[in-house]
Amino acid sequence: MALIVQKYGGTSVGTVERIQAVVKRVIHTVQAGNSVVMVVSAMGKSTDGLVKLASEISDSPSRREMDMLLATGEQVSMALVSMALQEAGQPAISLTGAQVGIITEANHTRARILNIETTRLKKHLQEGKVIVVAGFQGVSNTEDLEITTLGRGGSDTSAVALAAALKADFCEIYTDVPGILTTDPRLVPEAQLMAEITSDEMLELASLGAKVLHPRAVEIAKNYGVPLVVRSSWTDEPGTWVKSPVPQPRSIEGLELARPVDGVEFDLDQAKVALLRVPDRPGVASRLFGDIANNQLDVDLIIQSIHEGNSNDISFTVTKDSLNRAESVSSAILPALGMSESEESSVLVETAIAKVSISGAGMIGRPGVAAQMFSALADAGVNIQMISTSEVKVSCVVDAAMCEVAIATLQKQFELTTAPVSPTKPTVLDDKPVRGVALDLKQARLAIRHVPDRPGMAAGIFKLLADNTISVDMIIQSQRCRNVNDTMTRDIAFTVAQMDAEAARKVLEGVQASMGFGEVVVDDSIAKVSIVGSGMIGHPGTAAKMFDALFKEGINIQMIATSEIKVSCLVADADAIKALKAVHEAFQLSGKTLTKVPA
Ligand code: ADP
Ligand code: ASP
Ligand code: MG
Repeated sequence: MALIVQKYGGTSVGTVERIQAVVKRVIHTVQAGNSVVMVVSAMGKSTDGLVKLASEISDSPSRREMDMLLATGEQVSMALVSMALQEAGQPAISLTGAQVGIITEANHTRARILNIETTRLKKHLQEGKVIVVAGFQGVSNTEDLEITTLGRGGSDTSAVALAAALKADFCEIYTDVPGILTTDPRLVPEAQLMAEITSDEMLELASLGAKVLHPRAVEIAKNYGVPLVVRSSWTDEPGTWVKSPVPQPRSIEGLELARPVDGVEFDLDQAKVALLRVPDRPGVASRLFGDIANNQLDVDLIIQSIHEGNSNDISFTVTKDSLNRAESVSSAILPALGMSESEESSVLVETAIAKVSISGAGMIGRPGVAAQMFSALADAGVNIQMISTSEVKVSCVVDAAMCEVAIATLQKQFELTTAPVSPTKPTVLDDKPVRGVALDLKQARLAIRHVPDRPGMAAGIFKLLADNTISVDMIIQSQRCRNVNDTMTRDIAFTVAQMDAEAARKVLEGVQASMGFGEVVVDDSIAKVSIVGSGMIGHPGTAAKMFDALFKEGINIQMIATSEIKVSCLVADADAIKALKAVHEAFQLSGKTLTKVPA
């Protein structure tokens, strides 16, 4: 007999008929000898309906009142589901987050779970009841009982957190698609179902726009080793398992707020190549990385910064022994692009660099963590040359001579007792370099012009944003330094959620004079297309193939950022779907079976 947590999303409980179908499945599970804790979302799109009502009353409703409002959606479905179970003869009880004892931070509309009481749940399970818990909600503490919500899509997180607290045998997420597919089947019906995916890959996909799982749910599954599966509410197909390595034992206390960083990694075997002032037009990245791949050179980080005028800077890192060949390939393509080194364009190489990273599955949605890293490095006098962020890692390229200082600083900052290590290889499930493609249409790009090039600037900027709870993605500093009024400056560009863009601009403009940077430019007509796969390490040419697919569609790449297991490109939002389809096709992820998503 197993203890199973089953979560049903909005569509799955969207009508009375669907609730009855869900009840059948639950009763079937109980009759097979299992105990079931259900977590339910609000019916259909009712949360969107509540958000709309609020917006008709106020442009900026208080976050506390939003929580009071939004938490009601789940209360409707939990009661109806519990009634339907009772009607079918199955003893059941519905409980709100407060009644269970799901304790969260007091941070309204985006609270993290701190602890979950299990006494009451265990008592009802002992009585043979199915428990129906309202997803997406908790309370700030047991005295004030302030209702909080976890952020849109947060019922997945409620479910996995309950599974971790109850040490359930597994957690099933029932939804309107057959499982996790190679991309969103609503946009690309040829997308194919995966039987399994690693938690690191799913963390990236979820954070890059694949809303089939809430990223924090994957984070908890990884940290606590909760077996997690995504399945269709309409069929008995096996769905997709999210695979996590066996974790270190962890207390349930501080559930989502426990130590975000588990370790420091460093790599001294890297060298940097930067191409300055290459033309800003489709095909440049494709040509460069195509030639690099043809020479069997494995590229690690790739960064392309925003363009100034009509040129771009592209920089990348390779292992030291590949540097000479990477440099000659890079120099050779300049004439091919109609540029000569004597003109504006140039190739710079740097061998004395080190990549220093912090890693851990607790950084999602916690903008303060990367900011803390940048501040600590700045305080220790370490200048950051390149930044690369993923959901589980933040890496900085620094001067090799500062590597030891950087490591010691980060060990201290994040209170780590484990020794720093060379980069660890992630788990690879099959020989495909790319397993999934994600599209995020809800991002905006901010560019800060002419940021003085000295330690502490990135730290100051990202700490300020973090203090305003603005999460930042795709941080890129330009390689090129420009002399503005006798100060060497660089541009810094990054992406944020569209809803945070204006707030970010205001906050930054507030410190423009004191920090001494130039204009802050917002662009929200962008989209981010990303490829994800643990197998891309050791598959030279993966990034080149993506760039080539975009080039063949005539799509210009505005920004590039990579981590070990992902490559993200910013493109114009008008090109988004075309870009997604082209990239999905280029990696042969399409299949013959088409997935129809129920309305
Ligand atoms: P629920 O209400 O059940 O939580 P969501 O709408 O939050 O459902 O998530 C399911 C949706 O996620 C699917 O209908 C699909 O459109 C979308 N989706 C995006 N990317 C993927 C992907 N890679 N695989 C499966 N579904 C995806
Ligand atoms: N009902 C909430 C939302 O629509 C939570 C969820 O469905 O996961 O965001
Ligand atoms: Mg969801």
